[in-house]
Amino acid sequence: MTVVTRFAPSPSGNLHVGGARTALYCWAFARGRSGRLVLRIEDTDRKRSSDAASLGFMTDLDWLGIDWDEGPVQGDQGGGDHGPYFQSERLPIYAEHLERLIAEGKAYHAFDTPEELDAKRKAARLAKEAYRYDRAALALSAEEVEARLAAGEPSVIRFRTPDGPITIVDEVLGEATLPAGEVDDFVIRKADGYPTYHFAVVIDDAMMEVSHVLRAQEHFNNTAKHMILQDALGLPRPVYGHLSLIFNPDGSKMSKRDKDKVLRAAVKERGVDAAPADSHGTPLVEADVWSTWLGDKSVQLDLDTLEQVAAALEVSLPEINVADFRRSGYLPEVLCNFLALNGWSAGDDLEKFDNDFLAKNFNLDRVQKTPAKFDRDKLLAFNLDAIQEMSPDVFHDLARAHASEFRPEFIARLDGGQFRTLCDASRERSKTLDEPFSVNRFLVSSDDEIEWTVSKPVRKAMFKGEPTGLELLGQIRPVLENLPDFDATSIEAAITAFVDEHAEGNLGRIAQPLRIAVSGGPISPPIFDTLAILGQEAVLSRIDRCLAVMSEIAAAS
Ligand code: GLU
Repeated sequence: MTVVTRFAPSPSGNLHVGGARTALYCWAFARGRSGRLVLRIEDTDRKRSSDAASLGFMTDLDWLGIDWDEGPVQGDQGGGDHGPYFQSERLPIYAEHLERLIAEGKAYHAFDTPEELDAKRKAARLAKEAYRYDRAALALSAEEVEARLAAGEPSVIRFRTPDGPITIVDEVLGEATLPAGEVDDFVIRKADGYPTYHFAVVIDDAMMEVSHVLRAQEHFNNTAKHMILQDALGLPRPVYGHLSLIFNPDGSKMSKRDKDKVLRAAVKERGVDAAPADSHGTPLVEADVWSTWLGDKSVQLDLDTLEQVAAALEVSLPEINVADFRRSGYLPEVLCNFLALNGWSAGDDLEKFDNDFLAKNFNLDRVQKTPAKFDRDKLLAFNLDAIQEMSPDVFHDLARAHASEFRPEFIARLDGGQFRTLCDASRERSKTLDEPFSVNRFLVSSDDEIEWTVSKPVRKAMFKGEPTGLELLGQIRPVLENLPDFDATSIEAAITAFVDEHAEGNLGRIAQPLRIAVSGGPISPPIFDTLAILGQEAVLSRIDRCLAVMSEIAAAS
């Protein structure tokens, strides 16, 4: 038997880490058994699906190194004999099977209006009973059904659920039996003509010859519906394995809500009483929506808005989606390694491995039943380790690719040599590919944006000592101005000579004032590198402004 797995995202929103882990396990299970991975886009919910989301999912999978054998064509992958791979393009296939079920009396048209169904649901609630569809539609004669269909009355198709308990067999979670009557006559084709998830998934898994279904635990109970549909349609049953959720360390579900929570807390702490404005001066969020969102934890802003507000307020949001981790500068192989560990163990306490290892060793026996807790610190530590193991060349190339996409201002501002210097100066301390940029924003600020606050370390560096740091700064300016080559080596030679002559060989006496002058604060990459990256013109201009500002402060105190 050929092993065939599938990853079947619904293209709304973004690829969440939980989804990415499912995809990774499906990929590894197939790869390790010389099988195939099918990518199928489950876009039958027309209101919620979008092409942009489908594309986003594929881009994220690509980035993670999860390639598919069959599915939508992207680059040199995809295609296959079982397409189309977008469910919305498979309606004739579903229609054929729906007709067969109706002809065999295993499914029927139902014309109940949403209002009628709501009233029945409400009555069940009041009677404290579980709602089950009452099969009202079965009272209609065949002629009546025909007439109402011919008249174009809206209708759905329901599956006639057989009586009796249903036992779900699952390779990860074990067996569970739903008692008779638990599953009612559920809808398999909606009024808009599209199949429901349950129907499409069963047909497609069979048509695409899927042998193993690995998917999120939230679908465990749905499997009962899928099994009775398979029986009714005479279709084979794949092996099922349901994967536990990924939780935050505090036991809450890892979801977009976490971003709202962090932003809301930051807004409250800072007492921001209106949403920041966009570039046209229009508030990013209208006042009433803003105050509702602030006051009600269950309300969420849409992701785009949320990210714009966070960017405007310089709040960093927790990563939830694969795209977030990418933007934050995580390495795809590290994220895969870490996700694999969140729900599966390699045995022997082995923690670090690559996707090849995973493919060779992944099995369902060691998939954990209990939810995994997502330990961000550990992920960050893994990423740091991976970056430290890289050669400077590799780090440079990856950091450059990252900046081209997410930090273009650094590509625009720094020439090739300066960019390389920044990478070399940052690599050993960087936990992510983004860190050289995120912590060194002063490098791309315009010179007159640098501001100084006289904190304790600034006061000490500038105003203490004999001569003071400020005086040394004034003296070193012409030395830097007269340097013909402004590279790190020449700068180092000139500053060292200066320090020997004017500061008893104590480099810190001038390095700190220089650092403060050019960056606004006491932290930067090594000083010679920092000056070289900024270039002579910016360095001199920042020193001049700093001298003026600090002299005024000195005079006033
Ligand atoms: N489209 C479903 C989802 O995104 C997946 C269903 C499945 O794997 O069977 O949750």
